[in-house]
Amino acid sequence: MPIDAKAAEILSRGWYKEPLEANDCEYLMTFRDKSSEANLATSLANRLVHRTCSEVGQITAEIEVSTGPCSGNCKFCRYSEGTTSLGFNEMEDSVLARCVEKIGGFSDVKNIRLTTCADTDLDDLCRRVGIVKDNARKGTRIFVNTCDMDVEDCRRIRKAGAYGAYHACRLREGTDTQIKKEARMKTISNLAESGLAVITGLGPIGPEHDMKEIIGSFYEILDLKANNLELEIREPVVGTPLYQYGKMNPSRVSQLRAVLTLASSWYDSPVKSTYGGTYLSGANSVVTKVTAENVMSQIEAARRKLFNSGFERLLKTDDSTVELNLMYLRQSGSV
Ligand code: SF4
Repeated sequence: MPIDAKAAEILSRGWYKEPLEANDCEYLMTFRDKSSEANLATSLANRLVHRTCSEVGQITAEIEVSTGPCSGNCKFCRYSEGTTSLGFNEMEDSVLARCVEKIGGFSDVKNIRLTTCADTDLDDLCRRVGIVKDNARKGTRIFVNTCDMDVEDCRRIRKAGAYGAYHACRLREGTDTQIKKEARMKTISNLAESGLAVITGLGPIGPEHDMKEIIGSFYEILDLKANNLELEIREPVVGTPLYQYGKMNPSRVSQLRAVLTLASSWYDSPVKSTYGGTYLSGANSVVTKVTAENVMSQIEAARRKLFNSGFERLLKTDDSTVELNLMYLRQSGSV
């Protein structure tokens, strides 16, 4: 069967870095996830990601430093105070320092992200950023994932040593969460204004969200001038109100990821970073959750994931790259 002519024309515009409109994306998503049109979209987006980052992959280690019943009350989250039976948990400074030292073992984890709940104490966060700075390899970029903040607070975090921040405006914010959409959007602008590199998020997407809603939200976020966007697929958490909807089909996720990658291929990130990749964080950027106990095995798995996805080099903390081959995987204990 020949490829649909209109789909081919839209995909070609995305490949050549011309902006796509929301209705172009909606049209591409009318094809089934196993269709020739979806396969072509996935293949083009994959090639674009590899080309844009010059075949260099990078790893982000994410550490939950402060968790507990959270007043954000997001209907998908295991920390939501409306559903959780978990207690508060603050990572001790000495444990954080040890974890960061382990992350730096091979100087090949470029980014460390500290995550907290919505009610986090900013002084604590700034202190923790300092601990990471003192114990990480030189050149490691520190990101924070935290509550809504004004510009002054964003500047404080930057001054403490953060390079950037992760902040998402979620789908159905204010309905499926108890946080106002305007507050999330404003914080993303504040973070960018303070000079932090902002990674934003789209999601968490579940099967109940229709394409018009998802794509509409993508274009709203695109206007906020973030550096990158992570597409988040919702993992169903037992006991949460949205558990009943289940999880989006992985091949439909790949199709959506591909379409949005091509739709934003023209985008020029405000903070330049070496081997940054496309606006939609793609396969080149692996985010792995680590604890002091599992840190080594998680990073080893992240190296393998990049290798299995065909990335030829790995970004090091000093911005050099190392060949990501079988020998390196063996030397780093990843195989
Ligand atoms: S704000 Fe974050 S930690 Fe709090 S309930 Fe929502 S997703 Fe969970």
